[in-house]
Amino acid sequence: MSTIPKTHLVSGFETTGSYDVIKTLEVETPQITSPTDIIIKNKYAGVNFIDGYFRMGVYPSANKPHIFGREGSGVVTAVGDAVTKYKVGDNVAYMSPNAFAQHVKLPEDYIQILKLKNEASESDFKIYGGALLQSLTALTFITEAHEVKKDEFILVWAAAGGVGSILVQLASQRGAKVIAIASTTDKLEKAKELGAEYVINYKTEDVVARVKDITGGKGVAASFNSVGKSSFESSFESLARKGTLVSFGNASGVVPPFAINRLSAKNITLLRPQVFGYITEESEWKHYSTILREELDSGKLKFEISKVYPLKDYSQAAKDLESGATTGKLVIEIPQ
Ligand code: NDP
Repeated sequence: MSTIPKTHLVSGFETTGSYDVIKTLEVETPQITSPTDIIIKNKYAGVNFIDGYFRMGVYPSANKPHIFGREGSGVVTAVGDAVTKYKVGDNVAYMSPNAFAQHVKLPEDYIQILKLKNEASESDFKIYGGALLQSLTALTFITEAHEVKKDEFILVWAAAGGVGSILVQLASQRGAKVIAIASTTDKLEKAKELGAEYVINYKTEDVVARVKDITGGKGVAASFNSVGKSSFESSFESLARKGTLVSFGNASGVVPPFAINRLSAKNITLLRPQVFGYITEESEWKHYSTILREELDSGKLKFEISKVYPLKDYSQAAKDLESGATTGKLVIEIPQ
């Protein structure tokens, strides 16, 4: 039988807007209503740009209040009568909406759930609560959006940021020559420590000219660009013949409409992928989450959590992330 409280705390918004619309709300807790439901009591959840896009109305949200959070970790506290895959007490991490909440409900056959070990530590919950979305973005994109190969030049934007710092590590592990781009010397230093061979400060240097210098005039095989509007053109101009532009974010704004005829001059491939499109099937999720677990547990992939905020301070976390000043990952601690 479920012992889930009637109400719980969430971070969400009723109307779109700036940081002042972010509220800690007390709302009805999800309950087991189907025999295949499971309820997870959250411990940690990751902060992502996508929460800001919903808040600002860049992406539409059907639910009001809209509850923030797209990934989390916690403990299964209730299961429906027909559930066989999970039991009360299982430790899990997952990618799903509504993670900035004390409890979340998912169906048993939900694909993007990872079982954590029985003796998972607080640190495991913290890392896995924040690692899935950005790490799987980096992993799937360097495998499927552009398969990164040994010795090719790869450009990584926001290279000290969440996705960027993982892209730098994974592309370097594959033997690619990573050119990291960021806005400050400290961020570039961090990218170098993570494996970048070359660095460019886009605030003080001409990105296209530097890329030409580094690549002997050829350009890069692929540019992984999460920054969007402000850097789309320099990403495009930095590509080699048959190069690939993976444009996957809007940190500086949404990329304006693009004339496809421009692709033909260098036979360029242009993608605007989203991570969920690569981990939809159970086999895909298993494949990528197994690789990620191995990367994280072996320490090959360094996952830096730069700050942990209590749930009530999510608005500060959003401000910090969206200001562009942070490095690594920001995580929310859910009150128990
Ligand atoms: P980051 O930690 O990378 O933070 C964003 C970084 O972008 C900043 O640190 C800053 O780095 C750079 N930036 C450049 N211009 C701006 C600007 N005007 N405002 C703010 N930041 C700016 O964030 P995430 O790793 O969480 O996400 C990066 C992007 O990737 C987001 O747009 C996100 O939506 C997208 N994303 C897309 C996914 C998908 O499936 N398509 C999945 C996951 C993330 P610097 O100072 O070095 O320029």
